[in-house]
Amino acid sequence: MEKCKVIAITNQKGGVGKTTTTVNLGVALTNQGYRVLLVDADPQGSLTVSLGIHNPDELEESLATVMQAAIDDRAMPTEVIISHTEGVDLLPSNIELSGMETALFNIMNREYVLKCCIDSIRENYDYILVDCMPSLGLMTLNALVAADSVIIPSQPSFLSTKGLRLLLRTCSKVQRQINRKLHIDGILLTMVDNRTINAKSIIASLRSSVGEQIRVFDTEIPFSVRAAECSVAGESIFKHDKNGKVAAAYEKFSKEVIEIEEHTKDRPRPEWVR
Ligand code: ATP
Ligand code: MG
Repeated sequence: MEKCKVIAITNQKGGVGKTTTTVNLGVALTNQGYRVLLVDADPQGSLTVSLGIHNPDELEESLATVMQAAIDDRAMPTEVIISHTEGVDLLPSNIELSGMETALFNIMNREYVLKCCIDSIRENYDYILVDCMPSLGLMTLNALVAADSVIIPSQPSFLSTKGLRLLLRTCSKVQRQINRKLHIDGILLTMVDNRTINAKSIIASLRSSVGEQIRVFDTEIPFSVRAAECSVAGESIFKHDKNGKVAAAYEKFSKEVIEIEEHTKDRPRPEWVR
């Protein structure tokens, strides 16, 4: 693979599996030989904690430091990047990122700061996954400007049409005004409990309605307590429960993500752009 792909994992709804997907998609891609960087773009630092750093606020350097360097027109301090034992690299975050989001309001090219940081290191990776915070604020906007594409994790029961429409409108606006190449790779259903008739019917109606405009990935991530334990253990599902159903699902999902490249070459303008 010659070119790096930057994917923003985003949904303004909280607790839908963005961070879990970032970790496990990242490790699944690494397991298949790709070079992967995970970027924690959430001041909560959940991605950083999920990769075993228990007190992110004690880190002296983080994404906020890197973004400040970009704002000051200094070279990116690459020593901020941490190598995880499972093969992925991490650009960690902590509470300092919330100060950065406020600071961004007063600077020139405020939507481009994260892109500037990521562009300076993208040649070192095949995939860069950006774990977004649950909001459509300036930090998420920075992620959408830096990204080539978007993956939207969503719990079937939480997929409010209104929330999805708002997210798509934001992506569409970014696509028209700032980042022409932004593409929505698709919606990933997470924490799916197929035993309930309710979940089955929600998923069926989602696939038939949204599915016409936006891809809903074939892979569904099942609900499993083992998956919830991972972030506490500071490891991916591939280490925590490698023979379980969630590991199998994330591995299958990573193959769908890899295949997207074949389908998006010379693609026409997506339908969701108005
Ligand atoms: P936030 O919006 O706060 O950043 P998020 O969208 O990143 O949240 P996660 O933190 O990934 O969501 O997941 C929310 C909770 O659900 C976590 O406690 C996580 O461990 C749990 N969880 C994630 N995936 C699964 C799963 N497949 N089965 C069961 N629990 C899961
Ligand atoms: Mg999160």
